[in-house]
Amino acid sequence: MVALTRLDCMIESSALMRQALAQATHHAAHREAFGHKLGDQPLMQNVLADLAVESEAALRLTMRVARAVEEGESDPVAAGVARIATAVGKYWICKRAAAMVTEAQECLGGAGYVEESILPRLYREAPVLAIWEGCGNIQCLDVLRAAVREPESLEAFVAEVRTASGADPRLDSAIARMEAALGNAEEAERRARSTVECMALALQGALLVREGDPRVAEAYCARLEEGAGRMFGTLPPSIDAAALAERARPRLSA
Ligand SMILES: Cc1cc2nc3c(=O)[nH]c(=O)nc-3n(C[C@H](O)[C@H](O)[C@H](O)COP(=O)(O)OP(=O)(O)OC[C@H]3O[C@@H](n4cnc5c(N)ncnc54)[C@H](O)[C@@H]3O)c2cc1C
Repeated sequence: MVALTRLDCMIESSALMRQALAQATHHAAHREAFGHKLGDQPLMQNVLADLAVESEAALRLTMRVARAVEEGESDPVAAGVARIATAVGKYWICKRAAAMVTEAQECLGGAGYVEESILPRLYREAPVLAIWEGCGNIQCLDVLRAAVREPESLEAFVAEVRTASGADPRLDSAIARMEAALGNAEEAERRARSTVECMALALQGALLVREGDPRVAEAYCARLEEGAGRMFGTLPPSIDAAALAERARPRLSA
């Protein structure tokens, strides 16, 4: 039961992230500051593009886990992927949702803080998804426990990530970091968050490179590079941030 409610937390977090992104991109397309639309300003485009990448990575991981859960009813390899990826995704996506929603609030400035906009509600909602059904530490310890008790599930997870090996050198480095973290038994419990973060980044990268929009995958891999910025809005100039932001903007049908 807990596996399903943890997947539910991932679905809700991904939905909050998409809603926050829709609010931010819509606002930026219409609000003028310093003589231009916010959405035309290069730095705002970088922030919106980065939020769009985060949202898409979260949704892709969530959908992959959902498929593994469904297929796992009859397929032991899929069940293994689901066993590990549910805990990894619950940890990572639910944590990232809170960070992303607050950045989206900032895109609206003061209007994103006051209760007239929807964003304060998203901001209040996000943390509970990381807390209930097991807090972050519990998810990370669950990954360690599953790796020991059900090693075949960890093998299935690693094999899933490796399906994207060779597609991008930055992703290859992320996969290597994940394998090094998993292979290091020393103080595994103390390092559990770092290890699970490596697993989440490698899996999201693999899914995007394999099945995602190529521009989103490229931006995600740029974030995997050593020395990449830690805040949203630090994508390098090689990324077409304007196109990514525009792609994420919701369009209302007539
Ligand atoms: C709004 C709301 C509704 C809820 N509804 C339900 C419900 O309907 N049914 C239900 O059964 N429960 C429900 N809960 C409970 C929820 O599942 C728990 O609050 C949640 O799992 C965290 O457990 P806890 O509160 O006992 O915190 P604790 O277990 O005390 O955890 C506190 C902190 O310690 C950390 N921690 C715990 N153990 C370790 C360890 N070994 N190593 C390192 N860190 C550790 C945790 O990660 C967390 O950060 C609800 C909670 C909320 C907030």
